[in-house]
Amino acid sequence: MSMDTQLYYAPCGFIMTEPDGRIIEANEMISGLIGERSSELKQRHITSLLTLPSKLYFQTYFSPVISMYKKVDEMYLTLETSEGPVPVLMNAQERDGQYEYIFVKMKTRDEFENGLISAKLQVEKILEDTDNANGELQKLLSELESKREEIIEANKRLEDLAMIDPLTSVKNRRYYEETLSAFLEKFHSESFIFSYLIIDIDHFKKVNDEFGHPVGDQVLQDLAWKLEQEVRKDDVLVRFGGEEFVILLSGISEKLAVKIADRMRQNIESSDWPHSPITISIGVSGAKEMDTKESIFKRADEALYYSKGNGRNQVTLR
Ligand code: GH3
Ligand code: MG
Ligand code: MG
Repeated sequence: MSMDTQLYYAPCGFIMTEPDGRIIEANEMISGLIGERSSELKQRHITSLLTLPSKLYFQTYFSPVISMYKKVDEMYLTLETSEGPVPVLMNAQERDGQYEYIFVKMKTRDEFENGLISAKLQVEKILEDTDNANGELQKLLSELESKREEIIEANKRLEDLAMIDPLTSVKNRRYYEETLSAFLEKFHSESFIFSYLIIDIDHFKKVNDEFGHPVGDQVLQDLAWKLEQEVRKDDVLVRFGGEEFVILLSGISEKLAVKIADRMRQNIESSDWPHSPITISIGVSGAKEMDTKESIFKRADEALYYSKGNGRNQVTLR
């Protein structure tokens, strides 16, 4: 035996080749691995022990490196053995014009790599799941947002509706309560004046009695529409109840309010009414220093009462 006995039985693979790759020696471990006797391995080319990918890798990498550095460190290769492919770590060096190779089985490397690969797959899966969950969450959030906007819209519509008289579509008593408070507040704090008109249809009962309730309703709608034409944007027209309307004239003195009220009264009187002529009586009051919602209403209502008692179709200031 030209190879030394210790090397022959060493716990790692050992091969020696000619520079052209023909095997001169292979130890016990290699022949055991490959599954052929040591003598049968001689004269075979070293690459014939490798799997095809390893063979290609060996051919492109090994020769240039060994001729330049006289050695090759840590090449990962796979042996084609009787028990299937076996990954190995190979070191090689040139000595006395021949090449010596050491092989160490790399079972652990395989497991380590498999572990790495499965960990990487798990991370990718988690990232993908997280991505999906985020997308789903984003979708839910935007649905929630649009639902929220819908609800706000709907609530706003409901709120507006709650402030509107369904028969005449002008503002209702609820709106009146809020706005009169606001007008008084502004009057008391900023001396921003306003006047109060209460309007009542004359002998309205007769309209209902003679032409029926639906015609009465129509008259209320027409009157509301006509009054709406008489007020400006900052004024407030409300149906106070029944056949009574209230107008808050913003920034208007009681003196001017009387003129405006009388113009309204005349316009209503001279309007074309399909069934019978319609006239209105009006009570006027201007906001005064100690006024409350009740006191300003009370003066206007007394004024209205006076207009009625004095023959109707007229304007009275209190
Ligand atoms: P006055 O000149 O003194 O105001 O006489 P009037 O008949 O107008 O007064 P009164 O308060 O006695 O009658 C008001 C009538 O208004 C009674 C009611 O039938 C009618 N009325 C109230 N609300 C409505 C309504 O929504 N639709 C109709 N068609 N009639 C209504
Ligand atoms: Mg009335
Ligand atoms: Mg009336």
